[in-house]
Amino acid sequence: MTDKLHLQPATKAAQALGRHEPTTGAVTPPLQPATTFARGADYGLPDGRSYARPSNPTFEPPEALLTALEGGATALLFGSGMAAATTVFQALVPGDHVVAPRVMYWGLRDWLLGFARDWGLSVDLVDMTDLGALAAAMRLGRTRLVWIETPANPTWCVTDIAGAAAIAHGAGARLAVDSTVATPVLTRPIEHGADLVMHSATKYLNGHSDVLAGALVTARADALWERIQAVRAQGGAVPGSFEAWLLLRGLRTLFLRVRESAASAQAIAEHFSGHPKLKGVLYPGLPGDPGHVVARRQMTGGFGGMLSIRVAGQGSGAAAAALAVAGRVRVWTRATSLGGVESLIEHRASIEGADSPAPPDLLRLSVGIEDSRDLIADLDQALDAL
Ligand code: PLP
Repeated sequence: MTDKLHLQPATKAAQALGRHEPTTGAVTPPLQPATTFARGADYGLPDGRSYARPSNPTFEPPEALLTALEGGATALLFGSGMAAATTVFQALVPGDHVVAPRVMYWGLRDWLLGFARDWGLSVDLVDMTDLGALAAAMRLGRTRLVWIETPANPTWCVTDIAGAAAIAHGAGARLAVDSTVATPVLTRPIEHGADLVMHSATKYLNGHSDVLAGALVTARADALWERIQAVRAQGGAVPGSFEAWLLLRGLRTLFLRVRESAASAQAIAEHFSGHPKLKGVLYPGLPGDPGHVVARRQMTGGFGGMLSIRVAGQGSGAAAAALAVAGRVRVWTRATSLGGVESLIEHRASIEGADSPAPPDLLRLSVGIEDSRDLIADLDQALDAL
């Protein structure tokens, strides 16, 4: 039932919570570029804020919308997805133990194995598709945080959010979910027991490959959240006002874009599944995919716009074949990143380096909002030429 109090999430996004600018009635919120705010003669601050690093009014509309879409208590914007993620770990203290996935966004994995360990965090990486492995990695009284990413870069393996939350909470730890790929359109991790949701807002939330930003949404404004707020305010890991404003503009079309990308990704995965020039298609929307059953339980409305193909070939020939396919496409753009309106193709092993879990034959596909028939025909011709 749709009424004024229970609007559907897509309506909340399209209307940016329906807020109009009070003095003019403008239907888009204003961009406030000021970094400092004047005090009155009584030395008071009219709006309670003094400086844009701890508090920027342009952040509030996108933060409020993300809070509503994720069903959280409150949210914070950051200067990038990495700034959001690393702030969570920096809010812990040296000696704390964290468990993270073996298969995850490589930039954060590198940071955890390098900076976070040097800084004194004890970091274990486990196969998060195996809840037994997660349970075995927990250290009672020492594990503070379990970090998961689902579906996870670049194999799109799926982690059971409710199962991971139960294990984390049972050991007195929190569960944080990198939900960049699922977006609140397809998964709301807090409903499955997560304590924190993280997004690289650079991807689907903004959606136009022109803003670098990140976001955290919390289920509770508790002591950990206060530390996260302090790390952001003191360290200054914030976006600029213009980025925050553009992010809200992108968020208003989030549902249209994500639904279209997910429908096209499903069509592409089905078309190329069993293709003679491929070893496999990795996509949780395929019924035979190892993550499909869990994905059906925690994703609604589609399985996301990201998939990978594994090009047939042996040894170094596999990498060469994958690179040849990437070299021949004309509609897909050869570029890193994901979640934009334009479709991207990337050979992840070339990017992630020697210790990457990405097989050398893997091409990562970020499906945009073009007509899926063009995307399929282009990949078909690139594979046929092999
Ligand atoms: N998480 C995921 C799943 C990502 O794909 C990325 C970037 O590719 C990040 C986090 C980091 O985000 P950013 O590039 O905005 O720092």
